[in-house]
Amino acid sequence: MLHQKISKERIIIFRRATIYYITNTLKITVVAMVLIFIMFISKYKPMYKVTIGEETIGYVTNKDKVEQIVEDYINTQDENIAFIEVKDLPKYELNLVGWNIEDSTNSVLQKVKDESVVTYLLYAIKVGDEQPQYVSTLEEAKQVVEELKNEFEGILDLKIGVEEVFTSDLENIQSIDMSVAKVNLDTEIISNCDSAINGIILSKPISGIVTYRFGPRWGRTHKGIDIAANTGTPIHPCSDGTVTFTGWYGGYGNLIIVDHGNGVQTYYGHCSKICVSTGQEVTRDTIIGLVGSTGNSTGPHLHLEILKDGVVQNPQNYLYK
Ligand SMILES: [Zn+2]
Repeated sequence: MLHQKISKERIIIFRRATIYYITNTLKITVVAMVLIFIMFISKYKPMYKVTIGEETIGYVTNKDKVEQIVEDYINTQDENIAFIEVKDLPKYELNLVGWNIEDSTNSVLQKVKDESVVTYLLYAIKVGDEQPQYVSTLEEAKQVVEELKNEFEGILDLKIGVEEVFTSDLENIQSIDMSVAKVNLDTEIISNCDSAINGIILSKPISGIVTYRFGPRWGRTHKGIDIAANTGTPIHPCSDGTVTFTGWYGGYGNLIIVDHGNGVQTYYGHCSKICVSTGQEVTRDTIIGLVGSTGNSTGPHLHLEILKDGVVQNPQNYLYK
């Protein structure tokens, strides 16, 4: 009986000790974990790793803010910027990083800028075939054209046009303000008088070197000039006009004739291909044919004739001087 009682008491004591022991162990573990966690978060913080393409740019705290900044840059509303293309957009990945890591939002934006291609929209004012001049807005362009028209109305039959130009290379575009544009255009108009024939401003149909000049040679008259160029080089008419002949014409091979009005006609001989048809209206921008060596020709070139009131002129009085 006594033995049984002692035994029961022992069991109770043992149970209490066990519970006490387990509870304490748990407490210590929890405290230790909290301590470790505090140590951990005091050393590390969550940040977004930013990569562009293969390159790691840095870490940022606020991903949404950076995305917004990049988006604002892409949608820049500058009157000269047509659009901005970004090759690779930044990618974000959440990481735990050391407290000493700093936010590199600025580097991310700089990298995006460096890698992007900005396309600008400018307005080219063209007078005859002279080098165009550029202004920033359509309003400015219209104003310059209006001033030119008022100033030269009735004096010269000037072809003035405004064209939208998209470019990513501003350095090779001469961007100028209105007052400068005006001055330059004035001087251009004077030089343009030389390339005007019966009031029609002429421009080069192709670029190239004159290999055979106008005039008498070897007992016959060369009625135009020969301009050497590769087979397939696009030919533009010297000015706007109407196509009055297309087809094979003896020594000319494939010939195109364009009538520009005011008694001015131009001939384009030896073409490898004719791209227009008789009766078609053309502008300087139209490709009327391709350089070739058809007819009486020994190599690819353009034979160009300019007629004024039915009489052949030396083209080099106007072009390829
Ligand atoms: Zn010729």
